[in-house]
Amino acid sequence: LLAPDGSSVPTIFAEMSALATATGALNLGQGFPDEDGPEAVLDAARAAISSGINQYAPGRGFPDLLAAVAEHQQRFYGIELDPQREVLITVGATEALAATLLALVDSPDDEVVVFEPYYDSYAACVALSGATLVPVPLRWPDFQPDLERLASAVTDRTRVILVNDPHNPTGTVFSREVLHEVVRLAHRHDAIIVTDEVYEHLVFDGPHVPIATLPGADERTLSISSGGKTFSLTGWKTGWVTGPADLVSAVLAVKQYLTYVGGSPFQPAIAVGLRLPDAFFASVASEMAAKAALLGTGLRAAGFDVSSPAGSYFTVVDASPLGATDADAFCRELPARAGVVGIPLTAFVTPEHRSDYATLVRFAACKRVEVLQDAAGRLAGMT
Ligand code: PMP
Ligand code: GLN
Repeated sequence: LLAPDGSSVPTIFAEMSALATATGALNLGQGFPDEDGPEAVLDAARAAISSGINQYAPGRGFPDLLAAVAEHQQRFYGIELDPQREVLITVGATEALAATLLALVDSPDDEVVVFEPYYDSYAACVALSGATLVPVPLRWPDFQPDLERLASAVTDRTRVILVNDPHNPTGTVFSREVLHEVVRLAHRHDAIIVTDEVYEHLVFDGPHVPIATLPGADERTLSISSGGKTFSLTGWKTGWVTGPADLVSAVLAVKQYLTYVGGSPFQPAIAVGLRLPDAFFASVASEMAAKAALLGTGLRAAGFDVSSPAGSYFTVVDASPLGATDADAFCRELPARAGVVGIPLTAFVTPEHRSDYATLVRFAACKRVEVLQDAAGRLAGMT
C-alpha cells in the first residue's frame, strides 16, 4: 500500500477524482451520484441532529435501524432476521467488508476466493488480514465466471467465497446458475459466503436475488449492504451486515475496535429511507437503467465497444476500436483528449492479470442526464 518513497498510494478513485478536479473534466470515474438522495431522508438526518442524537450510538447500532434493516430484508427478499442478533450497523459496506475479513481469516493458509476484476478494498483487506487471495476471472463481454474455473478455485483451504452482486466494476448480475454453484461449493468445502450487495436496488431487470435466499445458503452467508447507493448518499457511510448470529458476533467483535460506531444522526435517517414505499425503490432501479442506456448509446456513438450492464452504477467499454492498447494510459490522457474521466479495469485486478483487461475502461452512469449527454458529446469529438 506504500510507494517506494514511503508515501501512501491513493486509491484509483481518489486519484481519478483529483484528475477530474485538476483538469475540469466530467467525472465518470468514481462512482458517486451528482444529486442527493430523497428529501425525507435528508430531513430525518437534520431532525436527528436537532433532537440531540449526537452522541455515540450503541455498538451494534440503534435498535430502530437494526429493525429497519430486518424489515427491509423481509419486505424485499422474505429473509427473517432477529434484529438484535443477526444485524450489525457498520461504517459503510467498506468497514463491513474489512471487519468481516479480519474476523474470518488470518493466515496465508486461509484462502479467499474473489471474482476478478474486484472492488479495490477486497484485495487490500485480504492482504491486511494476512490471508491469500484466489481470483476467479470474469471475462469481457458478459463477465459471468466459468463454472469449472470457479470449482477448481474452491478447495478445502477456502475459508471465504466473496461475491459481489450486482458487480462492481463490470455491472454484471450473476446468473442463478453461478449463485447455486457458489452455494454448492461453499457446502462441499465448508466455506463461508460473504456477499457484497450494495447495488441490490440497482438491478435493471429485477428482482435482485440475494445469494442468502438460495437453498442451504443462509446458515453460512454474511450479507453486506449500505445506504450509500440506494439513497444516493455515498458520503454518509452507513452500512450493515446480516446473517447467522455467531458470524455477525464475530464481525462485531472486530468492528468495535475499528471504529466502535459511525455517525449517529445518519442511522435514524437511513431507517427512514429503508421504510420508503416500494415505488421509491422501483424508481431507483428504473432511473439508473435509463441512465445506463443513455450512457451506452453515447459510448457506442463515440466508437467504443460497449458491454451491457444488468445493474450497478457502471458500464465497461473496450477502447481498442479507438486505438487504445493500454487502458491506464488511455484514461490518463482522456481528460486532455475529451474532458472526461473513466477508470481503467486494470485497477481492479492483480498485477499479473492486467494484460487480460488491457483495453477495458469503466464509466459511471450515476450522473445527471445533462452530464451524461455532455460526456457522450465530448467523447464523440475526442482528439
Ligand atoms: N462495495 C462495492 C462493490 C462498492 O462499489 C462500494 C462503493 N463504492 C462499496 C463496497 C463501499 O460502500 P460504502 O461507501 O458503503 O462503504
Ligand atoms: N465505490 C466507488 C467506485 O467504485 C468508489 C468508492 C471509493 O472511492 N472508495 O467508484
